Amino acid sequence: MNILVINAGSSSLKYQLMNPDTGDVTAKGLCERIGLDGRLTHKVPATGKKVEKDIPMPTHKEAIEAVMAILVDPEDGVIKSVDEIDAVGHRVLHGGDKFVASCLIDEACKQAIRDCIPLGPLHNPANLMGIEACEKAMPGKPQVAVFDTAFHMTMPPKAYRYAIPTKYYTDDHLRRYGFHGTSHRFVSKRCIELMGGVENAHRVIVCHLGNGSSLSAVKDGKCQDTSMGLSPLAGVPMGTRAGDIDTCVAQFIMNKYNMSADECLTMLNKKSGVLALSDGVSSDFRDLDAAAEQGNQAAQLALDKFAYEVRKYIGAYAAALEGLDCLVFTAGVGENSATMRASICEGLEYLGIKIDPEKNKTRGEEAIISTPDSKVTVWVIPTNEELMIAQDTAALCK
Ligand code: AMP
Repeated sequence: MNILVINAGSSSLKYQLMNPDTGDVTAKGLCERIGLDGRLTHKVPATGKKVEKDIPMPTHKEAIEAVMAILVDPEDGVIKSVDEIDAVGHRVLHGGDKFVASCLIDEACKQAIRDCIPLGPLHNPANLMGIEACEKAMPGKPQVAVFDTAFHMTMPPKAYRYAIPTKYYTDDHLRRYGFHGTSHRFVSKRCIELMGGVENAHRVIVCHLGNGSSLSAVKDGKCQDTSMGLSPLAGVPMGTRAGDIDTCVAQFIMNKYNMSADECLTMLNKKSGVLALSDGVSSDFRDLDAAAEQGNQAAQLALDKFAYEVRKYIGAYAAALEGLDCLVFTAGVGENSATMRASICEGLEYLGIKIDPEKNKTRGEEAIISTPDSKVTVWVIPTNEELMIAQDTAALCK
């Protein structure tokens, strides 16, 4: 089976053609600068081939057409005809409280994604453009929407409700939703498999630490709480996002610097986080590591603050889960940074978390990094959101 996985942003569109059973990726790539000019980067992992082309992409429709054309191209392509694509799976950011699972795309599904635009104003319109572009390019091809929020829909009200007047929940749907759900689902499911069943992994904390970061508390395979909220701005500090802050900070800045709410939110989303704490060194953790090693105090503070806030969430979620069986690190930082994992786990021995420094040297592959006598099994498990999307798509199209 060939599933085309699409992740459409406002001016970009990532794609992967993959086999949902083996996880083999036949081709993958990226359309950039949609609406400006248009650039396609296409890779074929089996041969290592990489093609870069400037192609006019006034809208997502032309971007999808460019993807279709290169996939069937006699020289650079990997399939003979679009008929070899069995179905398309789309990453969709916000499913509101309407979607607890992935779903086949029809008019009602598209309307529900449209209804969630106020909750995901930057991403949902782009996701819809990707869906509609595929409908035009491949009429009748089954399409599936996989929501970043869906895995978190099992949270109880005490976790998802904000302590503000009820009408904002009932009338406006303002509540914690959480994001990176496809990753949290993939990684917690894999952890349970690797532990030999849920009986050995009742209480799992997943730390998805990348450019965007979030944690989830998972009990018996179901999400109980997560650190992002109505939007991906909440939780731990991130590459450029502030994470949790006192709302009065925003009010103060808006009043003193005559900023609109949107301008203030842009600052909190794009100019904050470890980028801001490091006084502009970088939002990239590799750069921060290098700068801190050279003695840059601000970069060191950014790393310390990040580790401290992640550690606090682990403590909070161990309390929420009434104990802990497994702690899992995933995403760019979680999979690759031994120093960050060690720094986060430092001082968590009282929770039964004991890291083995040798095992912790692992990078980018499944591994246990705790000592044999650690009460909590600490894992590195690479995430694979595309595979999860492909598997959901295959299951719904069978
Ligand atoms: P992601 O958003 O999951 O792609 O993760 C991107 C982040 O992972 C960036 O901040 C990278 O600096 C970080 N990252 C990737 N490799 C390493 C590494 N070896 N050490 C530290 N951070 C890393």
